[in-house]
Amino acid sequence: MTDINTNEEVSKKSLNFIEAFVASDLAEGKNGGRMQTRFPPEPNGYLHIGHAKAICLDFGIAEQYNGICNLRFDDTNPEKEDTEYVDAIKEDIEWLGFKWENIYYASDYFQQVWDFAVKMIKEGKAYVDEQSAEEIARQKGTPTQPGVASPYRDRPIEESLDLFNRMNAGEFEEGAMILRAKIDMASSNMHFRDPIMYRIIKFPHHRTGDAWKAYPMYDFAHGESDYIEGVTHSLCTLEFEVHRPLYDYFIDQIKTADDYRPRQIEFNRLNLTYTVMSKRKLLELVKENLVNGWDDPRMPTICGFRRRGFTSTSVRNFIDRIGYTKYDGIVDVALLEHAVREDLNLKAGRVSAVLNPIKLIITNYPEGQVEMMETVNNPEDESKGSREVAFTRELFIEREDFLEDAPKKFFRMTPGQEVRLKSAYILKCTGCKKAADGSIEEIYAEYDPQTRSGMPESNRKVKGTLHWVSAEHSLPAEVRLYDRLFTAENPLEEKDKSFEELLNPDSLKVLTNCRVEMSLGEAKAYDNFQFQRLGYFNIDPDSTSEHLVFNRTVSLKDSWGKMKDKR
Ligand code: ATP
Ligand code: MG
Repeated sequence: MTDINTNEEVSKKSLNFIEAFVASDLAEGKNGGRMQTRFPPEPNGYLHIGHAKAICLDFGIAEQYNGICNLRFDDTNPEKEDTEYVDAIKEDIEWLGFKWENIYYASDYFQQVWDFAVKMIKEGKAYVDEQSAEEIARQKGTPTQPGVASPYRDRPIEESLDLFNRMNAGEFEEGAMILRAKIDMASSNMHFRDPIMYRIIKFPHHRTGDAWKAYPMYDFAHGESDYIEGVTHSLCTLEFEVHRPLYDYFIDQIKTADDYRPRQIEFNRLNLTYTVMSKRKLLELVKENLVNGWDDPRMPTICGFRRRGFTSTSVRNFIDRIGYTKYDGIVDVALLEHAVREDLNLKAGRVSAVLNPIKLIITNYPEGQVEMMETVNNPEDESKGSREVAFTRELFIEREDFLEDAPKKFFRMTPGQEVRLKSAYILKCTGCKKAADGSIEEIYAEYDPQTRSGMPESNRKVKGTLHWVSAEHSLPAEVRLYDRLFTAENPLEEKDKSFEELLNPDSLKVLTNCRVEMSLGEAKAYDNFQFQRLGYFNIDPDSTSEHLVFNRTVSLKDSWGKMKDKR
């Protein structure tokens, strides 16, 4: 495994290397003092949290320097793209809290980019190659060995122009020919060995339909699109660093103004432990039904995290913390979960829910009596006030909170021992009823009426405090518990194992028999709560008033906080 990015302070400062470039360009008066970025997703899948890192940078730095950021769909691969993805991408950016200045599509520039290519052919800087992809690959050479020139390299300009037009008219099959830049087959930068500019794709485009049959490659289209739009700082991930000379080269072939050229700056990708961070890989999980769609709460997609109950603030705080560097690494997902807890601690209302209920009967509590117990909604936020929760003779508590033969340090419910019920009374357990097979069916206890929360006697020293719900005044609910999607820290490193083999069999557990306090019947989809003693949960959009469904966002146990304390 590569280094786990645990040092927040170091990476926080390193955001400065991008800011420093921008600040110095502005100080030198470059681009007439303009500052413009773009976020350029390919609409071939839903955005993941790695994209959130790029979004926070592209939009954030534009805001910081009074510039603008446009959303550009990099739609040059019609076979893989779809308007479904376009819509989802817009929704996710808005959810993160960013606003684009304009929406553009690389396909808007197909004519202009085509004209640039024609200009290059006319200047003898591009040619149509009719060799197969395999042949071309064989001729590439190695970094230490020059490549072999294509026999078509020096064909007449007129011939290339004619073929280029016919490529686009649909006269040839896919793969029959391509347009290549004529640069340098001996260049030490492999990307300069006559890179491909255009290929034939006979698949309708989601925006331009059948108008085009020849489509530009990323290396050609991306820089030209940046140039056409007037992007000043083109921020992208580190794998494009080796493409930068080619990016500059292509722009140099077409640029007219002396004073302007977009500047590409690279930063490290976000990788997270126990998941994969690539739309293509995530699509595989969706297609093979290994997850329940792109917004499955176990997915590292923005919509998956949203459905799981992560807040946009927590995602942005996490991105701020990991910062931007020049080194690739892998970030512990526990740091993201830590950011989620931090934010939900401030925002989520505390409520009672019992995931694995067993009935508790308070034998000395009057039948039919209902007391309303005042409960603070969020101890971290006084303005959230309090509510009243019904207390009755019959309650539900967690099955795990009772043991008939308990070890000494079991401070929960066991015969003869006192325990406190949160916001209610102190109880002494008196026994239980067992079924023929030995399983516990009911628990019995007596309460001390002098110990109601707030009374002087309630301060009596009792070690355990349990959560509970009233049997009558509670609602049935389904609760979905999520864990890491993969068992491997870095699934892509496990080359000889399939996704299916690497999947964590316990990544989803559905509990159908839970009970939650009455007030949750009014909650709306995506509302966040803390189930006391259990963790943070939210309402899943599948939830209805007849059938409540909750997702566990994160448990209360903070493995990141612990790791930090140890350091
Ligand atoms: P994927 O393999 O997931 O499709 P991509 O890089 O091909 O990733 P694009 O839609 O082309 O996805 O990316 C849009 C922008 O998001 C690019 O600028 C890209 O560099 C950035 N980006 C993609 N993945 C990450 C990541 N893991 N961390 C940071 N930025 C990313
Ligand atoms: Mg891509």
